[in-house]
Amino acid sequence: MNMQNPLHMSATHTRPPILVQGAMDVEVETLIAALGKVTVNTFGSWTFWEGELSGYPVVVSRTEIGVANAAAATALAMTHYQPKLIINQGTAGGHDPQLYRGDIVIGESSFNMGSYLTELTPKGEGIHPSRWQNFDMTMYLRENGEVVKHNHFKADPALVAAALSQAPHYTKGNVVKGIIGTGDEWNRELDRINWLHHTFGTAVEEMETSAAALVAEAYKCPFVSIRVLSNTDQHGQDFDPQTAVNCQQFVLRIVQQLINSPK
Ligand code: SAH
Repeated sequence: MNMQNPLHMSATHTRPPILVQGAMDVEVETLIAALGKVTVNTFGSWTFWEGELSGYPVVVSRTEIGVANAAAATALAMTHYQPKLIINQGTAGGHDPQLYRGDIVIGESSFNMGSYLTELTPKGEGIHPSRWQNFDMTMYLRENGEVVKHNHFKADPALVAAALSQAPHYTKGNVVKGIIGTGDEWNRELDRINWLHHTFGTAVEEMETSAAALVAEAYKCPFVSIRVLSNTDQHGQDFDPQTAVNCQQFVLRIVQQLINSPK
C-alpha cells in the first residue's frame, strides 16, 4: 500500500466512493460480480450495490432506462453517497459511420438530443419533422441563485484521460473520444441519424448520459460517460448484449486504474 496515497490513508468509512452507473441489468451485472463485500440498497425504484474493489469503496447504480430515471438515480446517489466521481457507462447506437459495433466512445461531452422547437404551422398544414429544431439551450441549472443554461455538458478531462489510457487493453474494437446525444429516442432512419451526426457531431445516441451529467454538474462532481456501440444502423449491426459485458470489463480496468493512482 502506498502511504503517500491520500485515498488509502483516510479511514474506509470516510472515503467517498466511485459511482458506476448502468441502465439495464445486462449493463451492471458484470460490475456487480466484480465487487467484494456487497450490500444492496434500494430507494424507490432505484437500486445501488455498495461494495469495494481492491479495498476501495465502489457503488454500482442501476439507473433504469431513460432520462428521467438517469437524473433521479444520480440525484439519489449524490445525496446518499456523495461520490468522488461518476462513470456512466453502457450501450449506445452508432451515428458516426466510422464506428462499428464493439467500438467504445469516451464521451467528451453530451447533450439533450430530444428537445424540439417547432415553427407555428396552421391547422391542416401537416407535420414536418425535418424542420424541427433542437432547442439551442436545453438544460437548465440554478447556480449561485442564477439560472444557467447549458447546451452540453463536458466530461471531466482527467477522467477522459484515465479512460483513454486503458484503450490499448481493449481488444473488442476501437476506443475514441466523441459527443454523446441523449434522448428518450431510438432512431433508425438513416437520414435522420446522418442529420444528427452532421448537425451536432454525435458519435452515438443513447438515453441517459446528459441527464446524469446535468445532476453531476449541479453538484460539481467529476463525470464521464463511456459507451459501447451495441448496434449501428450505419452498418446493419443489431443490438448485441455481449458488448455491454465488454464495456463493463473495460470500465473495471479504468476504475482499477483510478484506485491505483488517484488524483
Ligand atoms: N434492445 C434492448 C432495449 C434497449 S432500450 C432490449 O431489447 O432489451 C434502450 C437502452 O439501450 C437505453 O438504456 C439506451 O441508453 C441504450 N441504447 C442502446 N442503443 C441505443 C440506440 N440505438 N438508441 C437509443 N438508445 C440506445
